[in-house]
Amino acid sequence: MTLKTALKTMIATAWDAGGRLAPTRPKLTILYYHAVPSAHAEAFAAQMQHLRKTANIVSADHTGPLDGSRPNVAVTFDDAFRTVRENALPALARHGVPATIFVPTGWLGRPPGWAMETSGDREEVVMTADEIRALPRDLITIGSHTVDHPRLTALSEPAAAAQLKDSRSALEALLGRTVDTLAFPYGDHDGRIIEQARAAGYRHVYTVAPQGVSEGDTAISRGRTSANPADSMSLFALKSRGAFDWMPMASKLKRLIRGRS
Ligand SMILES: [Zn+2]
Repeated sequence: MTLKTALKTMIATAWDAGGRLAPTRPKLTILYYHAVPSAHAEAFAAQMQHLRKTANIVSADHTGPLDGSRPNVAVTFDDAFRTVRENALPALARHGVPATIFVPTGWLGRPPGWAMETSGDREEVVMTADEIRALPRDLITIGSHTVDHPRLTALSEPAAAAQLKDSRSALEALLGRTVDTLAFPYGDHDGRIIEQARAAGYRHVYTVAPQGVSEGDTAISRGRTSANPADSMSLFALKSRGAFDWMPMASKLKRLIRGRS
């Protein structure tokens, strides 16, 4: 564990303890994974079992009431890697954990050619159209992860609009049902991209800033907390309780301080 990670975990532990002393409005913590390599299939299953025992598990696009007595958690996967189907799906089914998988529609059946978020994903392959279609509908929700997996804010307005619109219509044609959620590649977005996503018909868009969704929150944009099958159980438990929700505040503060100096 690096010093930075150790420090973050320490703050998360304190945040978690503080939250238990002074409970606030029920919140939903949305976790996001990428790959689930076979070496981590068992650890992932243990994480799902932990959620089943300790949390109220809902879908990432859940809007109704939340549980005030337990953590509310949703599970998502970015990139639609085949290892999710092979190594995560059995545990999701066994423990009855619904999940959303965000698909980059331009990469179906191919190894990811985009700049990687994590170095461990190099041997991954994005699921084929048939594999996506065969995912159990009662358990898995499909969302868009754009067509090409670009940094959306780096694109012109028409190019970003095409990424949002074309991925959605490709998935709807593939599945024969509505697709109205999107995860931003690299979490990259700004106000303009959010407005464009809204105009393209998305009901919810997901970032990579760990920020819980409060009960009754109607914002289109929802924060998520990064999860990894390699996380220790204690770290995973902290994440599932939204103990990293202080991080966006800390980044904001850092920007504010930097802006002044
Ligand atoms: Zn991605």
